Amino acid sequence: MSARSRFSDAERAALPVLPMLLVAWADGELTAAELDAVRSMLPAGGAGLGRWLDPAQPPSAADLHDLRGRLAGAAADAGLSAADRRGLAELGLAVARADAASSGAWSDTDGAALQALEHDLGIYGPGASARFFDADLDPSGDGFQLEPLPDARVAQLRALLDGPHAAWKDRTRAALADPRFRHPGELNTAAYRERVLAWLHDLVDAGLTGSMMPAASAGAPDLGAFAATFETLASFDLSLLVKFGVQFGLFGGSVLFLGSEAQRAEWLGPILRLELPGCFAMTERGHGSNVRDLETTADYVPERGVFVIDTPHNLAGKEWIGNAAAHGRMATVFARLRVAGDDHGVHAFLVPIRREDGSPMPRVRIADNGHKMGLNGVDNGRLWFDGVEVPRSALLSRFGEVSAEGAYASPIASPTRRFFTMLAALVGGRVCVAAASSTVAASALTIALRYGARRRQFGPEAAAETPILAYPTHQRRLIPRLARVIALKVATQGIVARWASVATSDDDARELEALAAGLKVLASRHATDTVQECREACGGQGYAAVNRFAALKADSDVFTTFEGDNTVLMQLVAKSVLGAFKAKLSDPLPLALVRHVAQRAATALAEKNPVIRRLHDSEHLRDGAFHRDLLAARVEELTDEVARGFKATLDAGADPFDALLRWQMPMVDLAHAWMEAQVHGAMRDAVEGCDDPALQALLNDLCDLHVLTHLDDQRGWFLERGYLSAAKSRALGPEVEALCASLAPQAVSLTDAFGLSPAVLGAPIAQ
Ligand SMILES: Cc1cc2nc3c(=O)[nH]c(=O)nc-3n(C[C@H](O)[C@H](O)[C@H](O)COP(=O)(O)OP(=O)(O)OC[C@H]3O[C@@H](n4cnc5c(N)ncnc54)[C@H](O)[C@@H]3O)c2cc1C
Repeated sequence: MSARSRFSDAERAALPVLPMLLVAWADGELTAAELDAVRSMLPAGGAGLGRWLDPAQPPSAADLHDLRGRLAGAAADAGLSAADRRGLAELGLAVARADAASSGAWSDTDGAALQALEHDLGIYGPGASARFFDADLDPSGDGFQLEPLPDARVAQLRALLDGPHAAWKDRTRAALADPRFRHPGELNTAAYRERVLAWLHDLVDAGLTGSMMPAASAGAPDLGAFAATFETLASFDLSLLVKFGVQFGLFGGSVLFLGSEAQRAEWLGPILRLELPGCFAMTERGHGSNVRDLETTADYVPERGVFVIDTPHNLAGKEWIGNAAAHGRMATVFARLRVAGDDHGVHAFLVPIRREDGSPMPRVRIADNGHKMGLNGVDNGRLWFDGVEVPRSALLSRFGEVSAEGAYASPIASPTRRFFTMLAALVGGRVCVAAASSTVAASALTIALRYGARRRQFGPEAAAETPILAYPTHQRRLIPRLARVIALKVATQGIVARWASVATSDDDARELEALAAGLKVLASRHATDTVQECREACGGQGYAAVNRFAALKADSDVFTTFEGDNTVLMQLVAKSVLGAFKAKLSDPLPLALVRHVAQRAATALAEKNPVIRRLHDSEHLRDGAFHRDLLAARVEELTDEVARGFKATLDAGADPFDALLRWQMPMVDLAHAWMEAQVHGAMRDAVEGCDDPALQALLNDLCDLHVLTHLDDQRGWFLERGYLSAAKSRALGPEVEALCASLAPQAVSLTDAFGLSPAVLGAPIAQ
């Protein structure tokens, strides 16, 4: 051994591969093929390296410990720092060059081959060396420093996330800044409901319901402003949010979207001023997701010019109806419209349910849904109608009318199509729940990231403990979620804009419906999972009610169920994607088919090409075209598979319902794949449309982290279908980790762009 070297002659000859060998053995056993690849790199096949290359007698724990110490020492001598975030090959070469006795033995060409070896061993990435050497190279943990973004950049990002209705968001924030809006702590159910009702009146007084209708009963509604208000309200108490949604979005929205001009003029004013608290009574105990088969009836009696609303049996009672248990005085009731025995399908009727003194109207029975898992400030209840008479004008008549004599007329002939057109008109509920879900996730992340930057646990002896946000695991848990919530917020804006503009065609309306449903699913699932992850990321402090996670978790949980159960909604999304595909293929022009086949071929060429399949350098992994192609390939392949499979099942004689069951799982996969491509597309557009280079670079990192995390999660599918090689698939995780590490110092600053005030956020651990 040279006096100036820590390594034996054989080790010196192999110095650049030693860090790799060390980390690979520390991770688990190396296969004979992998060891052959290492041997091929070494002079004379690595003779003298002994057990480091012998799978029959692998290095012991003591060997690993010893070599690790010597390599860490040599790295320190060479002035290397963990902050450099080198790959293992690069680290090995640097140590070799610094080692006097071995310097000059390795060229730059060897460097490229070493990096290829690193990839093959699956220990690629700048994080790999830090992972092993951090403790020695960076003993204090102070290597992790927050790097706040410049105020101007935070302001730019906030402007982007606030979007075109920023003024309404600011107005809502200003209203919530009033000291009346403080988290009240424990209240019993009755007191909580009254508190929420009082808050709702405060919001009306602050002019926030004007976001829905500027002039109360006339003029075009500003739907984008309503969504912005709703999204911002979700930063405070979620019972207030839901009560706001029930009164203005659902009850008000039913009149706005299903009513005639005259009905809007009559009812919207009192509804928006909260003089007429009301409900949206669609769900029944017997029929929740399947609302087409609701059983409440509305029979027209021409002699008296009335509809008779009836609950035919107990299971047809309305269930879970917000505002029903205590405060609602009228309900939009969904019931089957029948005239002289003819069933024209489900329609909406305005039915008074309570007098001003709070007592139920005659023939209306009301029960309380009782204490719930969350949202206990909302009075959900059950309703039964025992032959309640309402005037002919109670029918919300945009999509169907009955003349005084009993003649039914509708602009849409098919009852099923009519009903789904009505439901489509109510698509805004899903858009708003999606927007609110992102705010919930943003709140949870803001609390967890602020706490994580301050909270210290473990560290080397005689040095400050390490902030938990410095740990790669902590970063991996939180930073991709931060990137996703930003992507979801960006995507939400595009969908809100489409909702707020008048749909130009049936196809537009159908696509919007699918987008709203899909976004609601992605955002509510993300919120639910993120709240849980953030709670855990704050340890015991996360469990204290005062730190908000208990309420966030309990109150937002049901976002995955109401406004359409997530699993059921994804089938609607899939049907829409398949419908568009079918329309394209059944287009009389064979051109459409040719175009489709050409597109598929292009994707297959780009992604299944063996060279591209194996590329796994950082530049390629972060190429937007690569991401787009992979996401598009998945949508195309699943669309093809489901469409052809479904048809083959039908051709084999199965009935359509059975065929649906056979293909239900891939349909839901297809819906997820399509939505992920949509969200990524929206985020990519935001990156490309950004004209400030610094903000653009930041958005690009967030966009890449978001999509790479998704690809990493789904890499099994891409690997199985041949879109990724094993090495490329393995390289995704380290790339995600590297992005997490580079964004972590700015994470707290990024949460400032959500515009959540400390008072509204609550949570002492986040202050
Ligand atoms: C707090 C709260 C507030 C609410 N507020 C209102 C309100 O104000 N007005 C109103 O009208 N309604 C309201 N609802 C009702 C809500 O919209 C329904 O609960 C929801 O639509 C789901 O219906 P369900 O509960 O009957 O579940 P179900 O339809 O019975 O679903 C149960 C499970 O079965 C699965 N499932 C059902 N069908 C299928 C299928 N075809 N394929 C695969 N899986 C399937 C679902 O995924 C779900 O997991 C509220 C509900 C809650 C909990």
